[in-house]
Amino acid sequence: MDRRVAVVGSLNMDLITRTARLPKIGETILGESIDYLPGGKGANQAVAAARLGCRVDMVGAVGADAFGDVLIAGLEEDGIETGSVRRTDVPTGIANIFSVGGDNCITVVPGANGTVTPDSLDDKAMAAIREADVVILQMEIPVETVTHVLAEAKKAGVRTILNPAPAQVLPDSLLADVDYLTPNETEFELLAGRRFSSDLELEVLMKEWEDRHGHALIVTLGERGCTFLEDGRMATIAPPKVKAVDTTGAGDCFNGALASGIAQEWPLRRSLEFAVAASSLAVTKFGAQAGMPTLEDVGVDG
Ligand code: ADP
Repeated sequence: MDRRVAVVGSLNMDLITRTARLPKIGETILGESIDYLPGGKGANQAVAAARLGCRVDMVGAVGADAFGDVLIAGLEEDGIETGSVRRTDVPTGIANIFSVGGDNCITVVPGANGTVTPDSLDDKAMAAIREADVVILQMEIPVETVTHVLAEAKKAGVRTILNPAPAQVLPDSLLADVDYLTPNETEFELLAGRRFSSDLELEVLMKEWEDRHGHALIVTLGERGCTFLEDGRMATIAPPKVKAVDTTGAGDCFNGALASGIAQEWPLRRSLEFAVAASSLAVTKFGAQAGMPTLEDVGVDG
């Protein structure tokens, strides 16, 4: 498939330390195991779109360090173009994850991701953005860059998806250049500035949101799938029942798959059915990127 997706976003190495308990300040304890897993919402979404058959350009930055080498090599294994992943003196972004029993506590250090400023995007990166069928962004790089890329994509007539994660309030001027906004439930509550406790309340908030911003809003609902407004009414697409083993990266798979569907000019409903099918498969495998399904897994002919 020659459809092109440009992902402008983060690349992280996730360091997962399993331990029986957290150390106290000043204390040293022995942990049980360590895993190094490639992550970052940008890179995860790039892998999802590439496995689902798109030509993907990754735009971002890693450090001139061993983690940076591993992250770039991993993307290249999936056939992703990494010519616009800049190497910088600032270390590769990491997520330091302490896993205690079933619970996590996490410190994310953006590192090189913080150097992805508007000025850092060279001609090659801007060409990848302007020549794409779809550009997809998240909020793990500076917000000025997200604003800039959305505006440039819009000027070039490229469709844009913003996955507003991690959650934060966003200016209307930025949202004006978004074609598809894909928060999960908690992110949407923060964006809307109101909580909802029923589907009816959610529908009202979704209608208000679309009336105000004029783009398509898609709210992901975890094991309930996703919801969107179809002919002005809330429609929900539910996943099949699956045995979830690791939901890390579920939203990233959803977004990468949605980008792939939109890039192929599929109608929104078909693209969302595809995104729900793909992301419900992703949660059945361990690891964000390792769990991303292929077209064959989803049962679609390329
Ligand atoms: P995020 O990972 O960003 O919080 P969600 O939890 O809403 O996003 O999940 C994104 C998508 O992943 C959902 O729309 C759904 O299709 C799929 N998904 C997530 N959790 C499950 C689950 N337990 N079973 C089946 N599908 C799931």
